[in-house]
Amino acid sequence: MNLAVKKKILDKIKEYDKIFLFRHVRNDGDCVGATKGFKRILQLSFPNKKIYLIDTETAEYLRFLGPEDAPVEDKEYSDALGIVIDTASEARISNKNYKLCKEVIKIDHHIPLENYGDIIWVEEERSSACEMIADFYDTFKDELKIDTEAATYIYTGMVTDSGRFKYEGVTGETMRKAALILDCGVDTEKLYANLYLEAFGYLKFKAEIYRRMQITENGVAYIFIDKEMQEQFNLTLEQASACVGTLDSIRDAIAWMVFIENGDEENSIRVRLRSRFVHINPIAEKYRGGGHACASGATVYGWEEAEQLLKDADAHVKEYKETHEGWL
Ligand code: AMP
Repeated sequence: MNLAVKKKILDKIKEYDKIFLFRHVRNDGDCVGATKGFKRILQLSFPNKKIYLIDTETAEYLRFLGPEDAPVEDKEYSDALGIVIDTASEARISNKNYKLCKEVIKIDHHIPLENYGDIIWVEEERSSACEMIADFYDTFKDELKIDTEAATYIYTGMVTDSGRFKYEGVTGETMRKAALILDCGVDTEKLYANLYLEAFGYLKFKAEIYRRMQITENGVAYIFIDKEMQEQFNLTLEQASACVGTLDSIRDAIAWMVFIENGDEENSIRVRLRSRFVHINPIAEKYRGGGHACASGATVYGWEEAEQLLKDADAHVKEYKETHEGWL
């Protein structure tokens, strides 16, 4: 699929001696796995090229994958190729120095709200950006090299972004690429121990979520996690945000969301929206966000606007239920 654009990307990579990889803010398993995995594949395949991945942010639960490169001077970017992975819009690119690169390539699987870059390879139907990197490797495997380290990064993204191969976007193609990557020697027991195991205190927080969670009339489950609750359980914003999956298995809720108070002066609240059957991204897009059909993010200001978003989501789910069959 998309052979011509992939070929263009490989040719560009060959053309440059220096390459910088970029990903999105609030990084997750997919953007971290895809950038680290692609970097490793390129390093193994083109040992004479300088390949950098510079990002000051690393999600706590992904620290086991190791650190990124130290920052370099701005002038280093000017003769380099930039490859931005898993990032739909420029505003979400974490290292803003992508702008200094001579040329930029976008590789992504999000719904494209906006396009940027000199070469664009977007496949919305892919369950993860890592699946695209696996596909890129598969397409050119006669020319590219991979090892267990690269495969572990890529497999991490495939596993996390697909909800452990559970979400709608998972296809036979996903599994074929996963099989290829798994055959490179990924230690799944160790990987799952790093991804699944949770601190005792965090499970207590989850218990509180189950105690406080609510559901709207038409089936949107939600919870407000204000600063007080974050302090009570001694949580970082990232830890508080990670709980969205806790609400994912309520029979009557085909959409669910968490509202996390950021604690800034503007009273901004991060919203993480998830759904099954019904697509929730139109609601995210209405509130300064976007993402995937069934997994999006948004930002609201103040609890009143949060309530408004909930009302819209409830009406959206109601309409879906009235006009569709097939949900439980
Ligand atoms: P989150 O709940 O923040 O993990 O977001 C779910 C998905 O939506 C991720 O793939 C994000 O990259 C994407 N997303 C989150 N916030 C935004 C936004 N403001 N604009 C576009 N996409 C977003």
